[in-house]
Amino acid sequence: PVPARGLIEISNVSKFFGKHKALDDVSLTLQPGTVTVILGPSGSGKSTLLRAINHLERVDEGFIRIDGDYVGYRRKGDKLYELKENAILRQRINVGYVFQNFNLFPHLTVLENIIEAPVVHGIYSRAQAKEVAYQLLDTVGLRHKADAYPRHLSGGQQQRIAIARALALNPKVILFDEPTSALDPELVGEVLDVIKGLADLGVTLVVVTHEIGFAREAADQIVFMVDGQIVEQGNARQVLNHPQHHRTINFLNKVL
Ligand code: ADP
Ligand code: MG
Repeated sequence: PVPARGLIEISNVSKFFGKHKALDDVSLTLQPGTVTVILGPSGSGKSTLLRAINHLERVDEGFIRIDGDYVGYRRKGDKLYELKENAILRQRINVGYVFQNFNLFPHLTVLENIIEAPVVHGIYSRAQAKEVAYQLLDTVGLRHKADAYPRHLSGGQQQRIAIARALALNPKVILFDEPTSALDPELVGEVLDVIKGLADLGVTLVVVTHEIGFAREAADQIVFMVDGQIVEQGNARQVLNHPQHHRTINFLNKVL
């Protein structure tokens, strides 16, 4: 099922929580097979943007498209109409999501965690799903843990399983929301190495992280968000070595 490649277009997206504007006119294009790293202080709207790409948040202005399909909407003339819940769920399969806290099913084995969604969604038969799951376990280096339960794995291993699970739905993009923030420092590297491996395979990735070293090595594009806006955007050299915006400069001074 690897690689997952999709073109993501985010166009003038705004999102309000009450009067608070969590996303403020965000526009961003993610080319297929590229890695976009999102940096920015807490509360700047990074998670809200990822959730919008998955239609876990409904945007108030603008639109998002994945390979030409409006996320959670369909176009009729010059208007966008919200899809029905089951259509949104079907569309959500296009987006893989990896959370800070892995969110594996504790009562299922590693293998069952990976095959659950593709079987439920009718993407693969159980036999096919198992075959795919073993391939994905090879991709994340954990075939020998197929029959283990999540509680018997380290945090780093659990996150690698969560990545395999996201890949199993054959999504067009995989979104990572601070995938190493909950890990002990010595386990961060193994998860970042798996993500870099996906990048090398040409999977389209969006990664919210504070790991600047990872951003420098893996990102095709880095965006820096403050107060719901993208204030800086470019390749690693531009954003990390020659930041222009004072908030980016302050942030990098603190974390580097
Ligand atoms: P980040 O991920 O960059 O830390 P978030 O996207 O989580 O930021 O949040 C952006 C802003 O939106 C914050 O001010 C946050 O408090 C607010 N926010 C996020 N989710 C909700 C929600 N469900 N209801 C109200 N406010 C929210
Ligand atoms: Mg967040």
